[in-house]
Amino acid sequence: MAIETVNPATGETLRTFPELTSTEIEDKLAAADRAAQSWRAAPLAERVSVVRRAGELLDERKLDYGHLMTLEMGKPIKAAIEEAVKCAAGCRFYADNAPRFLADEPVNADGEDSYVAFEPLGVVLAVMPWNFPFWQVIRFAAPAIAAGNVGLLKHASNVPQCALALEQLFIEAGAPGGVFQTLLIGSAAVKAIVADDRVAAATLTGSEGAGTSVAQEAGRQVKKTVLELGGSDAFIVMPSANLDAAVATAVTARTINNGQSCIAAKRFIVAEPIADEFTKRFVERMRALVVGDPMDQRTNVGPLATAQIRDDLDDQVKRSVAGGARVLLGGKRRDGAGYYYEPTILADVGPDSPAFREETFGPLAAIIRARDVGDAIAIANDSRFGLGAAAWTNEEEEIERFSRELAAGSVFINSMVASDPRFPFGGIKKSGYGRELSAFGIREFVNIKTVRRKRPAQAARPATRSGP
Ligand code: NAP
Repeated sequence: MAIETVNPATGETLRTFPELTSTEIEDKLAAADRAAQSWRAAPLAERVSVVRRAGELLDERKLDYGHLMTLEMGKPIKAAIEEAVKCAAGCRFYADNAPRFLADEPVNADGEDSYVAFEPLGVVLAVMPWNFPFWQVIRFAAPAIAAGNVGLLKHASNVPQCALALEQLFIEAGAPGGVFQTLLIGSAAVKAIVADDRVAAATLTGSEGAGTSVAQEAGRQVKKTVLELGGSDAFIVMPSANLDAAVATAVTARTINNGQSCIAAKRFIVAEPIADEFTKRFVERMRALVVGDPMDQRTNVGPLATAQIRDDLDDQVKRSVAGGARVLLGGKRRDGAGYYYEPTILADVGPDSPAFREETFGPLAAIIRARDVGDAIAIANDSRFGLGAAAWTNEEEEIERFSRELAAGSVFINSMVASDPRFPFGGIKKSGYGRELSAFGIREFVNIKTVRRKRPAQAARPATRSGP
C-alpha cells in the first residue's frame, strides 16, 4: 500500500510513497540493532552533541520545516514555525541537562560504595501522531538519543515528508547510521515490530485504540511502553477570575492547532454567576477568528488534517445537538475545497453528550455551567480522560482546591495547559501512562540500575535479608 500526503487546505494529493517491504523493514531493524550496540557505548558528550546540533538545525531551518508541517497537516504557518523553534529549545534543554539527569546517583547505604545508574534500553519504537509532527517526535527523540537509545520512528501516515525530514535532520546532526530511522509503514505493520526481539520498548502518542493495540503486544512481550493518548481537558472559570484574560485564553486554548491538540481545552466549565457574560464574550471572540489558508500569517484556524477528522467532528456535533445541546456558533463544515470546520460553540451540554464524553478533535467548545467550586471539580473529573486541566480564579482557597483535587496529569491555574521541557508531561486514566519531558521523560527508557559495591572488609560480614 502507498502512503499518501494530501494538502488538507485543498484536498490535493502532494506525493505518494511506497510502504517499506518486509525486507526493507528487516534491514532497518538490523541497522537499529547494530547502532544500539555502539551508541550505548558512545561517550555521553558525543550523544549530547548530536542533540545540540539537531537543535541548531531546527532553529536555522524553522521556516522550511514550518512550511512542510503546514503543507502536510494544515496548522497555521505561524504556529508551525513556532513548533520548529520549540523543538530547537527542547533539544537544547536535553543537551544542557541530560548529563545531570543521567549522572550516577550515589546512595548512602551501609557504608557501601553504592549508586544508581541510568543505562539505555536499546531500540525504542516511536509511534507518533500528525498533530504536532515535529514536536511529538523531538520530545521523544532528544532524550532517547542523549540517553544512548536508538529510535525507530513510525510516524502518522499523513505526514511522511515530515517523517523523512526528521530522519535527515538527525543524520545531518551527526547521528551515526541506524541511530534514528524513519519507517514508512502503515499501522498494520507495527505489531510485528513491537514483537521483534531487537526492539526493547515502545512509545506511542495517539488515540486510545492505537495505544491499546501497541500496549497489548508489548505486554505480551514484557516490554516497557509509554502511552500519551487523548484528552478532554476542562477549562474552569470562577467568578473571581480576570474574565478578559480567561476569555482570550479560552479561545486560544480551544483553537490551538485548529483544535487538534490532546491538551486543547474542550470542556468549558463556568460558574453560574458569570456564565452568561463569559459565554457572550467567548462567542464574540470565536466569531472573530480568521478561518482560512493556513499558509497565510493572519490565519487563526486552518483546515482539519483529514476529511475523516472533519467528518468525525461533524458527527459529534450532530449527535450532541440531537441530545439537547444548543449551537451558539458555527456547527457545520465550510463549503469549498479543503477540510474546514467552522469554530463552534455548544451550550446546554449534558454529561451524556458526545461533546462532554468523547474527545473532540477540532474547533468545538462545549459550555457547561457549575454551581460552585465543588461542582466544577466534580464535572471536570467526570471524564474517562485525565491529561490536563486549567482553572481561572483569584481565590486562594479555590486555587488550592483546584491544584489538589483536579484529576489530571497537569493542572494550570490562570493560564492554559501547555508542554514545557522543564516539566513532566503525561496523563492518567485513559489519557495514558508514563511521562515525557524533564528528568522523568529521559528516565522512562533507561535501565535504572542498582549497583551495590561492598569493600572486601564489608563482604566478610554475614548478609541479612528481609525480602526479595
Ligand atoms: P492515531 O490514529 O491513533 O494515530 C497515531 C499513530 O498511531 C499513527 O502513527 C498511526 O498510524 C498509529 N496507529 C493507529 N492505529 C494503530 C494501531 N492499531 N496499531 C499501531 N499503530 C497505530 O491518532 P491520530 O489521529 O494521529 O492523533 C490524534 C490522537 O492523538 C488524539 O487522540 C490525541 O489526543 C492524541 N495525542 C495525544 C498526545 C499526548 O501527548 N497525550 C499528543 C498528541 C496527540 P497511521 O497514521 O498509519 O494510522
